[in-house]
Amino acid sequence: MREFLKLKYGLSNSEIQKLEGYGSENYLINSGSEKFILKVYPFDKQILDLAAAENDLLFRLQKEKYNQFPNPIRNINGEYLTVFYEGETRKTARLLTFIEGGFFAETGHSNLLFESFGKFLAKMDLQLSDFKNYVIEARKFEWDLQYFQHFIPEKTKFIENPAGRKLVEYFLMQHRENVVPYLHSFRKQIIHNDANDWNVLVQNGKVPGIIDFGDTCYTQLINELAIGITYAILEKDNPVEWAKAIISGYHQIFPPEEKEIDILYWLIAARLCTSVCNSALEKTKQPDNEYISISEKPAWNLLEKWVKINPVFARNEFRKASGFIIPEEKSIEEIKSERFQTVSPIFSVSYKNPVYMERAAFQYMFDKYGNSYLDAYNNIPHVGHSHPKVVEAGQKQMAKLNTNTRYLYDHINDYTAKLLQYFPKPLNKVFLVNSGSAATDLAIRLARNFTGKNKIAVVEHGYHGNTQTGIEISHYKFGGKGGKGKSENTICLPIPDAYRGEFKINDGNAGISFAHKAIQQMIKPTGEIAAFIAEPIVGCGGQVPMAKGYLKEIYTGIRNQGGVCISDEVQTGFGRLGDFFWGFEAQQVIPDIVILGKPMGNGHPMGAVVCTDEIAEAFNNGMEFFSSFGGNPVSCAIGKAVLEVLEEEKLQQNAKSVGDYYLHELTKLQQKHECIGDVRGSGLFIGFEFVKNRFTLEPDTELAQKVKNELRNRFILVSTDGPFDNVIKSKPPLCFTRENVDEVIGNLGKIL
Ligand code: PMP
Repeated sequence: MREFLKLKYGLSNSEIQKLEGYGSENYLINSGSEKFILKVYPFDKQILDLAAAENDLLFRLQKEKYNQFPNPIRNINGEYLTVFYEGETRKTARLLTFIEGGFFAETGHSNLLFESFGKFLAKMDLQLSDFKNYVIEARKFEWDLQYFQHFIPEKTKFIENPAGRKLVEYFLMQHRENVVPYLHSFRKQIIHNDANDWNVLVQNGKVPGIIDFGDTCYTQLINELAIGITYAILEKDNPVEWAKAIISGYHQIFPPEEKEIDILYWLIAARLCTSVCNSALEKTKQPDNEYISISEKPAWNLLEKWVKINPVFARNEFRKASGFIIPEEKSIEEIKSERFQTVSPIFSVSYKNPVYMERAAFQYMFDKYGNSYLDAYNNIPHVGHSHPKVVEAGQKQMAKLNTNTRYLYDHINDYTAKLLQYFPKPLNKVFLVNSGSAATDLAIRLARNFTGKNKIAVVEHGYHGNTQTGIEISHYKFGGKGGKGKSENTICLPIPDAYRGEFKINDGNAGISFAHKAIQQMIKPTGEIAAFIAEPIVGCGGQVPMAKGYLKEIYTGIRNQGGVCISDEVQTGFGRLGDFFWGFEAQQVIPDIVILGKPMGNGHPMGAVVCTDEIAEAFNNGMEFFSSFGGNPVSCAIGKAVLEVLEEEKLQQNAKSVGDYYLHELTKLQQKHECIGDVRGSGLFIGFEFVKNRFTLEPDTELAQKVKNELRNRFILVSTDGPFDNVIKSKPPLCFTRENVDEVIGNLGKIL
């Protein structure tokens, strides 16, 4: 090397130090009086052309002496590229001047520095705006964000952690929706394309220069700013605020267009995704290289932070930094009054201060005004809002075939076969419908048809659906406000509630006592009962788990008199309870009929009845069962995707561990606060009840309402329920984390 430098560049007695490099070997050369960077590349026509193109770009930048860029140095033959042999290997070398200064990554950060960084990038881009180079323009590679959809989707498979993979797939999906359709109209030019914190130089609190033009390309101009911001905000608690300083600096020199600013949020995400995907791929090539894992960590951290930020908030803040107007949204009053002009007020809206929703991602929801909410409530988006796998399954199938069950197609076979794998053997026929209510209705028809009887035994405060039959068997409705009372075909049994009910010691005996009492109540209609229907944890009753031992005993009682047993798993099913995939498993029973709904399609309307062969066969009496939408290929594709995500992301296990932690933390809070009378539930199906007195159990409805509304004001969504509406229900998407629990508990503690 020393010889080479002397021979080709006339540099004798230089100190040579090897530096970190990517795509080339890099050396710091110190001749005593001057410092240089020597880059050595493999000999390759394409690399040679690019190195020459990079030199041309640097010559263009040198025209204005305002900023500092590496300067290409000629060899003794007057050439900028030196082809030489190292042993048998032909290589190319390139010598550049060394620029003094610290790195952006290593200096203290300030608003001024960030603004100066923005200004620097803008000046450089402005200088390059008329620079043309066909080699750079022809380049197509993974670090150019315009090819995000080209290179990155196939790399997500290298991400080991499914929770990380889903984040990248989510941002890929959002990029397809929010960026790709508009890109064609964006300004393009040659940019540096890698203003990361180890390339950007700092002197006296300002950015005077940048190195490493190895990623230069011809792309959307806004990518320069997006990439610069991405690395600068990596470790920041308030990344949007820091980003604004860079945007503001950039804007002062080379104002971005409004539409460019509006996609920045997604472009920053795209760069993070590119980075983590490439790290994931590198890890497969160098599994022992710990440096990769360490260096990818900040990108993952920011990606996790980024997904919680309302894209509307980011857009508005970025607009502020670049002087654009923030679009006005309708006020809550406006949207509400508009709604009730066409929609009956019977469709109630939650919270004193309702939420005007815009979009959602996993366990986060975003309103129109830029606020982010932690969704500690919604159990329909079971595997998370907008889960990319589920969305994609629906989108793809919708574009291909969506028809009714009168044709043969694979999806219904595949889905029902997969669904039945989760059930004990006797339950082996599936009826697909579009809602929990439709499933309930059908389940009751199946039971009445099979038994030839009419009466349905239900549990107090239960809810099973909105159809005529649904209401008749839902004490929550027929016995509640506006309810018309119990119909003659309904037998309403006391809720086996070991907290408020008659039998309180939940050791198994309470459940048996509740069941015996219920069976007593059913002595008169013996022989008339078609079915017993209940949820294993009564959701609308205030998340009340049936006292231990209850179902076994009552199922026996019902079957003894010729009735069938229905488990409503609309809320408790699909792994939510943590320990069990279905709620009935918790009580060691096997129902004859199971009702499914809510989480089944993660928000896509799906419901099902699963029953025994005999019950299904008895129903097959010549009258066709037809549901226009139930079991269509789109629903089946979505349902299957939900099950796959549950498995891949081990969400039942997550419900167990996070749910246990949640219950534990709530119990700790209960010890501090007298007003929390009871904490109960299983997995991520939780309720806690407010009382005025722990002995009389006098409910504190007002406090529960206050807490719910105050949590909402702190951007945490929960709901209340139960006969006294004094129970807070929390049944979040199953991707809920311990940190999410801490946020709920921390805020609850402060409110109380
Ligand atoms: N059963 C239970 C236990 C439910 O919670 C619900 C809905 N809240 C239903 C049935 C009815 O489902 P859907 O709203 O899909 O008709």
